[in-house]
Amino acid sequence: MTPSTRTREIAERYAAVQAEVVAAAASAGRDPAEVTIVAVTKTWPAELVMAAYEAGIRHVGENRPEELAEKRAAVEAQLGPDSGLVWHLIGPLQSRKTALAAQHADVFHALDRLKIARRLSRELAERGRALPVLLQVNVSGEETKRGFEATRWEEDAAQQAALLATAREVAGLPGLQLRGLMTMAPWDAPPELIGRVFARTRALASWLAPRVPDAPWSALSMGMTDDFALAIAAGATTVRIGRAIFGERPAGD
Ligand SMILES: *Cc1c(COP(=O)(O)O)cnc(C)c1O
Repeated sequence: MTPSTRTREIAERYAAVQAEVVAAAASAGRDPAEVTIVAVTKTWPAELVMAAYEAGIRHVGENRPEELAEKRAAVEAQLGPDSGLVWHLIGPLQSRKTALAAQHADVFHALDRLKIARRLSRELAERGRALPVLLQVNVSGEETKRGFEATRWEEDAAQQAALLATAREVAGLPGLQLRGLMTMAPWDAPPELIGRVFARTRALASWLAPRVPDAPWSALSMGMTDDFALAIAAGATTVRIGRAIFGERPAGD
């Protein structure tokens, strides 16, 4: 396949996803302009990001910091540093990788431990950089899900207190700009259950907002290829979409 064929294919699929976003927003009575599509390019090569760029995509998502750093360097070698591409780190961060994220990510969606937040803050301060971050919360209760424990946040005072303390500390750490929450839907669950996890995440953000007023709480990152319409109905402002735009990923995920 020539690059231009791939670009055209991506542009068509991206347009179809945009149309679904508009439809989902419209049926929820929301302005579609509130919803940012992050095109998830993990495991694809830098050439795929180039094709996505030519197709008009400006937000890309990677789940590993070293892969983000390498791909970003390769893309910027061709487009320069001012291409307008925004690089979202959407996967979890290990503490020995915080320097990579501090250096190369533009937004970090998966902050799931205070230890990581503190290290990131120090790394950012050293570089004089700021990084918008979202707290990943585990609302569904699936054991495989990462994130701050929020499985029973509505009725569990200890969970509420822990979430509040976390949000307050992160909001006060230099270099970190707390923007909101991120969550993942349960696997293979019926739509009602998935919708409920998203709605409960949104409710948690609304509960935190007046209690941690120094953060804007404007970002809710939820929804992927299989469930982004449900996420938008529940208030998502960022959807992270890979397969619907690029097709099945090459191995590596
Ligand atoms: C891979 C990934 C996505 C995208 O998944 P698709 O099903 O391809 O849309 C979204 N969010 C995270 C955190 C991911 O790791």
